[in-house]
Amino acid sequence: GASGRVGPGADPLHVLHEVYGYDAFRGDQAAIVEHVVAGGDAIVLMPTGGGKSVTYQVPALVRPGTGLVVSPLIALMHDQVDALVANGVHAGYLNSTQTPTDRAVVERAYLAGELDLLYVAPERLNVASTTALLSRGRLSVIAIDEAHCVSQWGHDFRPDYLALGDLGQRFPGVPRMALTATATRETHREITERLRLQDARQYVASFDRPNIQYRIEPKVDARRQLVAFIRSQPEGAAGIVYTLSRKSVEQTAEHLRTQGIDALEYHAGLPAGVRARHQARFLREDGVVMVATIAFGMGIDKPDVRFVAHIDLPKSVEGYYQETGRAGRDGEPAVAWLAYGLGDVVQQRRFIDASEGDRTFKRRLGQHLDAMLALCETVGCRRQNLLGYFGEASQPCGNCDTCLTPPDTFDGLVPAQKLLSTIVRLQRERGQAYGAGHLIDILRGATTERIVRFGHERLATYGLGADLSDQDWRSVVRQLLARGLLVATGEYGTLALGEGAAGVLRGQMPVPLRRDVLGRTTSTRVRKS
Ligand code: ADP
Ligand code: ZN
Repeated sequence: GASGRVGPGADPLHVLHEVYGYDAFRGDQAAIVEHVVAGGDAIVLMPTGGGKSVTYQVPALVRPGTGLVVSPLIALMHDQVDALVANGVHAGYLNSTQTPTDRAVVERAYLAGELDLLYVAPERLNVASTTALLSRGRLSVIAIDEAHCVSQWGHDFRPDYLALGDLGQRFPGVPRMALTATATRETHREITERLRLQDARQYVASFDRPNIQYRIEPKVDARRQLVAFIRSQPEGAAGIVYTLSRKSVEQTAEHLRTQGIDALEYHAGLPAGVRARHQARFLREDGVVMVATIAFGMGIDKPDVRFVAHIDLPKSVEGYYQETGRAGRDGEPAVAWLAYGLGDVVQQRRFIDASEGDRTFKRRLGQHLDAMLALCETVGCRRQNLLGYFGEASQPCGNCDTCLTPPDTFDGLVPAQKLLSTIVRLQRERGQAYGAGHLIDILRGATTERIVRFGHERLATYGLGADLSDQDWRSVVRQLLARGLLVATGEYGTLALGEGAAGVLRGQMPVPLRRDVLGRTTSTRVRKS
């Protein structure tokens, strides 16, 4: 650190009071700071809002030299650095948006030992002139923020992160830290290996966000459900609505505006000026609802986001957790709401099949989707399922939809058998495979053109499932998909038997299913006012 009042050797707690105005360290912060100040490496897994910044900024202020912060969030560096400077910290950044003159000023300050903190984009560290510059000055600590970007399987993979594994060799003796809010064992392992932090001390905080209420419901009419959900929120609540495609972003935002909701759109295809304007309104004004692709949100510092809604199924539990984690960073009650349907599952299987990558890669994506589906279809506590996914054991939370309104379950063995045997018969007798819609038509005894054309009314299971509605059947299909008893493949999401289906056909295992009654959307009012 170079600041006069909190120079090298200062007491970390004193720095915390002086620079940040906080009374005390929180959670693991004190232990992490102490370890890094003493020269140790650290991997810090802490949920969004957990207070990661302090854990590398304080060591940078206490140790002699400049703290190097690697961050992929170029758009935010300027704001982050401004906020630090406002607190009296000597901070600067190097990235591609700067003029050569501005860059030269920062470089000189670094070499003169005047900087406490230097933010750089990962791609700059792959430029020889940057590493040469850094070697000529003195580093106090190297902090790699958003370290999960090193994970090739993750949704935020950045190739430039792979080269960061060399930093330990290039700057021997400088403590290194990797920080992230993504905490699956898989990501954790990749961070450790690729950033060569095998000897680092691990700090894993609880990932529970108790103030977030999780709610997941079957999609019937996504727009109507979304509007009803937003209207059920307190007046003036700011929120984010995530959807998968740019087109859907625009259509949804437009629809919300026609419903009198102050909605704006955000996706990577919009001109930079529009994106900046929408983001600024979202950050500064009350009650703006941002409809966005996942391009929006990483690093957005708005503590009072009251809800995050998903109208398409996220691709993985990690993604869902990251996105919903943007709600309620101020600790006040917030809601994570998701509506998903069979169409989502089929569409995502199609994406996976069509994606580039080998079989292992596709299988990984498939497993991520299955875990997400299992969260959606669980009859147990959502939070318990979510935390369990991150390897954290917990009790039912009392603050999610399934805890507040335990779902009705029924024995789904017979309907499951009807569906599975229809698939088997079509396959064996005729060598045909179909998607959910047609199979449900057969089971419900519909007389569609397709059924007549193929003579499917002569199948033994034709009309055997007329006791369930179309929606009920869709729910059965989704739940069987979630458990892997069914698999959807190909462009049209044709259904085939999965592992364990034979056991169900023989009646050897129970199939408890949730009964997703229509109207659950409106009848479930779990929010406190
Ligand atoms: P993260 O980077 O883990 O998402 P931040 O470092 O942005 O979290 O911190 C989240 C919030 O918590 C910020 O508003 C920050 O000011 C606050 N905070 C962090 N540490 C403390 C502390 N020791 N005492 C009080 N507030 C803190
Ligand atoms: Zn719960």
